[in-house]
Amino acid sequence: MTKRNFNAILTGSFSTPSGGNPTVAMMEAAYQEAGMNARFINCDVKPDGLADAVRGARAMGWIGFNCSLPHKVAVIELLDELADSAAIIGAVNCVQIKDGRFIGNNTDGKGFLASLRTVTDPKGKRAVLFGAGGAARAIAVELALAGAEHVTIVNRNHGKANAIARLVTENSDASASAIRWEGDAAVPEGADIAINATSVGLGDAEAMPAIDPASLHDGLVVADVIPNPPQTRLLRMARERGCTTLDGLGMLVNQGIVGAQILFGRTLDEKVMHKTLADIFGV
Ligand code: NDP
Repeated sequence: MTKRNFNAILTGSFSTPSGGNPTVAMMEAAYQEAGMNARFINCDVKPDGLADAVRGARAMGWIGFNCSLPHKVAVIELLDELADSAAIIGAVNCVQIKDGRFIGNNTDGKGFLASLRTVTDPKGKRAVLFGAGGAARAIAVELALAGAEHVTIVNRNHGKANAIARLVTENSDASASAIRWEGDAAVPEGADIAINATSVGLGDAEAMPAIDPASLHDGLVVADVIPNPPQTRLLRMARERGCTTLDGLGMLVNQGIVGAQILFGRTLDEKVMHKTLADIFGV
């Protein structure tokens, strides 16, 4: 009789539309490289099916799942517990199922931070975030919890920028300010890190957020959340001006690594994950 276990460890993602999400390819390449009998199942789950999908994951013995748009906030009422930063951010993109309980995490900002740490430690630094959506919110909170001194949020919708600034000051020792984005915005004097957290540049290598290129000074770290194409116009321009640059592929890969650390307690191979995405995006 064979002793082989034919049950794979099950993980996956719930979102809609889900067909364009390459995370499954990245995660399964890493599982395979690590010799893990694990699967990542990319599921198209409509909002009215989310509760059934979550219960189904537990019924089938999944160890956890990712939640992407539009479920990151709606999933919270289905969970038993939230990890610290997920509670502050108010959004969950990675759920661990442990002893039948659902524990919500947010790996968006943690993935960004892990990527950022390959070039600089945010502790004591001044950061400026362009954009105030879900990604910006997660990044601002993690920067503040990592000891950043000040976070400036620049956004067209001033109310959203203000809300993030409040979140930062109420939950950390960092100070924060909000600026309404009008015309070409400048990176504030004294900033160490500038981050494009808008959707400008997604799928368009020539699109450029309205940031004054003259304010991209030598020594500044310029990061972009846009994973595809990774070499955005902002990053190309920043490199020409002597800045250290960081693309959105690193954030995507590290988000997967942080998620796997939560679910499996082990670190997956970053190079394999990065290469899988780079091959898919043709870069
Ligand atoms: P949201 O829709 O929540 O937020 C979008 C933000 O972009 C808003 O602040 C919006 O401003 C701003 N914005 C959009 N168009 C413009 C414009 N023309 N000029 C200035 N600001 C603009 O999206 P998310 O925060 O969820 O995602 C943002 C980007 O981050 C996406 O492209 C996504 O692909 C990427 N992302 C990357 C990840 C990675 O792992 N690399 C992970 C998560 C997200 P306003 O509020 O004024 O409308």
